[in-house]
Amino acid sequence: MSPPIPRLATVSEIRDALAPVHRRGASVGLVPTMGALHEGHLSLIRAARETNDVVVVSIFVNPTQFGPNEDLERYPRDVEGDSRKCAETGADLIFSPSVEEMYPGPHSTWVEVEGLTAGLCGRSRPGHFRGVCTVLAKLFNICRPDRAYFGEKDAQQLAVVTRMVRNLDFPVQIVPCPTVREPDGLAMSSRNARLTPEERAQAPTLYRSLRAAQERIRAGERDAAALEEIIRSVLTEAPLAEIDYVEIVRADDLSPVAILTGDCLMAVAVKFGGTRLIDNLRVSA
Ligand code: AMP
Repeated sequence: MSPPIPRLATVSEIRDALAPVHRRGASVGLVPTMGALHEGHLSLIRAARETNDVVVVSIFVNPTQFGPNEDLERYPRDVEGDSRKCAETGADLIFSPSVEEMYPGPHSTWVEVEGLTAGLCGRSRPGHFRGVCTVLAKLFNICRPDRAYFGEKDAQQLAVVTRMVRNLDFPVQIVPCPTVREPDGLAMSSRNARLTPEERAQAPTLYRSLRAAQERIRAGERDAAALEEIIRSVLTEAPLAEIDYVEIVRADDLSPVAILTGDCLMAVAVKFGGTRLIDNLRVSA
């Protein structure tokens, strides 16, 4: 058992804790999360541990990135388990503010990244990335990290945050980390815990559909519509899955492609009942 690490709940506490760290020129790595931590999150913490003097994990279920009919209230939470996992993985500090602490109000300032947020999850979750970017801008200002770690599982989020940091000159390096999967291929997600046993059994179909398309690309297929059709047909093998989107886009600007060339991203979003799962695979053609 690792000794517990400080869990700070206010902006002034985390600022006070990090002030001497910044003063002595030590590096800070930030891992922003919404908690209910799993191996995917822990891989980010490990990556941060490797390169930074101090590792901060933020745990905040950010209400501004949830739509009115989304799962904010039902989002899984596990404060004690998260604290233990952060300590065991070598994090130094947890920042877990309340909603009132992060949004004392009146809150009327938002960070909006245009273009990149038009398709994929941005289309089905209007306002989602505005909430994500705004809370990240706040976390960057509060913690002043040298590096911040993000999973490639949320590929659009990674692209959007990278653009925001470049456009607004945040002095932070965005570090992408590979998607961590269950042995059956399902991308790890806090939301997986909410799947029924039947839904959980069908959930690996997301990754299987992407792999099927990848095989066809290896066999020479370059037509995006044909590849999207393959993905859809594999997804229909999961009768409980309701497809939100299947899209193939350019990896750099997330614009739709008709014929695959260069680095592309095949991305899917599927709903199992009230639980929305996403996955993606990067391919080079
Ligand atoms: P979340 O708590 O879902 O907001 O995720 C926090 C961070 O962990 C984000 O940067 C995610 O992309 C990343 N993450 C979530 N799941 C995984 C995974 N399976 N593999 C790698 N990173 C992940």
